[in-house]
Amino acid sequence: MLGLLRGLLLLLVAGAAPALAQDPGSVEDKRLPPLANPGAPSTPARELFGRKTEPVPLAARSIGFYSHGCLAGAVALPINGATWQVMRLSRNRNWGHPKLVAFLERLAEKAKKVGWNGLLVGDMSQPRGGPMLSGHTSHQVGLDADIWLTPMPERKLSREEREFTSAIEMVREDRLDIDPKVWTHEHTELIRTAAEDPGVERIFVNAAIKKALCREAGSNRAWLAKVRPWTGHDYHFHVRIYCPPDSPQCEPQPPPEPSDGCGHELDYWFTDAVIHPQAPLIPEPPKHQLTMANLPASCRAVLMAP
Ligand SMILES: [Zn+2]
Repeated sequence: MLGLLRGLLLLLVAGAAPALAQDPGSVEDKRLPPLANPGAPSTPARELFGRKTEPVPLAARSIGFYSHGCLAGAVALPINGATWQVMRLSRNRNWGHPKLVAFLERLAEKAKKVGWNGLLVGDMSQPRGGPMLSGHTSHQVGLDADIWLTPMPERKLSREEREFTSAIEMVREDRLDIDPKVWTHEHTELIRTAAEDPGVERIFVNAAIKKALCREAGSNRAWLAKVRPWTGHDYHFHVRIYCPPDSPQCEPQPPPEPSDGCGHELDYWFTDAVIHPQAPLIPEPPKHQLTMANLPASCRAVLMAP
């Protein structure tokens, strides 16, 4: 029961739903049809923010919490760098606060030095942040990014490859540990390098991956506190950076427990109920979708700006 409560609490705090890095994209231009009544108070905010294709050209500001907020002054991570490539370009989610873009560029370079060839970057935020039409509950304020647990190949990927290539599943079939056929020491080094960056607030990985990190960390374990288990996250890991000083309306997440989160702290994630969740007997009611009223008031100006 305690474990369950703990899990629910984590769910509330983390606000990170499994994002399916491996979901294929599309090479066709799929513009969304206009909304019949965008101004209606009941219109889900994700329908509004999901239709914004350009950022607001204002000073950079992350507004609200990771799972209910928006972003002004977003910049795009260039789709090709010396040590990274952006995946699923059709989603137009390679936007973030400049601090996030700077972090990714920094990590891509450091990763190379620990034997990781380069980053394949998945979803960051939409041009104006906000809730998304698919995949995530967080990633709303331009401070979250998903990084594939697959290293960048030597060559530049084609548009098709970026849409249709799958990331590699890292978790063993019984879900109790990583798959030793695909997991390497460089995976640990990459995640450690990200966690040791002073800008990083939290990293989410599958519990089986956390178990492997705990095993492989050795005596230098301080960085493990930032790396927390979450459902999904078996093809990619999720990095969250701190609220930037230029964003007074950004709401930080409470700091993690100071412990390394290893050993029995992981037991809950390997219980039968978590590993083999039962389908509910009664169909669950549709999830409440955030409306503009659920987001900070300033997000309306971000949405409406030309
Ligand atoms: Zn994510």
